Amino acid sequence: ARTGPVATATGAQRTITAAIGEALVSARGLQKSFGDRRVMRNVDFDMLVGDITVIIGKSGSGKSTLLRALAGLTEPDDGRIMFDGEVVFEDRQRTPVWKEVDSYIGMIFQSYTLWPHMDVAKNLTLAPRKKLGMSEAEAMERAKRSLAEVGMSEHLHSRPAQLSGGERQRAAIARALMMEPKLLLCDEITSALDPPVAAEVLGVLRRLKEEEGIAVALVTHDMAFASKAADRVVFFHEGEIAVNATPDEAFNRSDNAELKKFVDAVR
Ligand code: ADP
Ligand code: MG
Repeated sequence: ARTGPVATATGAQRTITAAIGEALVSARGLQKSFGDRRVMRNVDFDMLVGDITVIIGKSGSGKSTLLRALAGLTEPDDGRIMFDGEVVFEDRQRTPVWKEVDSYIGMIFQSYTLWPHMDVAKNLTLAPRKKLGMSEAEAMERAKRSLAEVGMSEHLHSRPAQLSGGERQRAAIARALMMEPKLLLCDEITSALDPPVAAEVLGVLRRLKEEEGIAVALVTHDMAFASKAADRVVFFHEGEIAVNATPDEAFNRSDNAELKKFVDAVR
C-alpha cells in the first residue's frame, strides 16, 4: 500500500483522498472533433474508487478517445475533468494539478505494450526509476511484488518474445502497478487473446480492484465479463454515452434499441 506522497522528477504527487465508493474521476461535457467528425459529444462520465466500469460500443463510437482524454493522451475541445475532487482539465488545457496526479493513471493497450528489447524486469522498473526517482534495488523489489500480484513471478527475466499473449498482458498490468495507480484504463487488452486466456487476464483485474481499491475502466467486447464483473456498464453510440447503468439494467432491462442491437451482434 502507498505510504504517502513521494517526490517525483516533475514535482510532488498529491495524496489521493477519495475513499471506496467516492468519485475518483468526473468528466463533464467532454467534446472532441477530428475535422468535422464529432467523436465525443457532451460526454459526462464518473468513476468511483473500487469500481470496474466496462465500456462497450461499436468500433469508432468514441471509447478510446474518452480513455485517452482521461489519460492525458488527447485533449478535448471542451469540457472539464476532475480527479479526486480537483480540476485537472478545463478551458482546453491541463491545469497545474494534472502533473501532481498523472502518475496515478495507468493505461494498457491491446498490443505493443512492452518494449521488445528489454526483459520484463527492465520494462517494469523503467518508469518508476525515471519518474519517481526510485533506486534500482527498490524498483526491483517492487517489480517482484507486482509480478507476484499477476501470477508472473517466474518471468522476471523473460523477454516479451518468450511470453504468450496472456502473459504479455499480465506483465503489462504488472508494469502499470509499478506506479501504484489509482486509475487503470484498459483499452481492449484481451481482444487478441483466446477466451480462456482473456478470462484469466480479466480475473487479475477483478482481484486487483477488490484488493487494491483502484478504479478500472475497461473497453471490451466480452459481454460475459461485463455482465459478471462490471459495477457499471457504459454504452457509447456515435460519440455519446447512450446508456450508463448497472450490468443488470444495461443487459436485462434497458430499452435502448442501439444497445440491444450491439449486444446481439457481439454475442
Ligand atoms: P472506438 O475506440 O470506439 O473504436 P475511437 O475513439 O478510437 O473509437 O474513435 C472515434 C472516431 O474518431 C473514429 O471515427 C476514429 O476514426 C476517429 N479518430 C480517432 N482518433 C483520431 C485521430 N487522431 N485523427 C482523426 N480521427 C481520429
Ligand atoms: Mg478503440
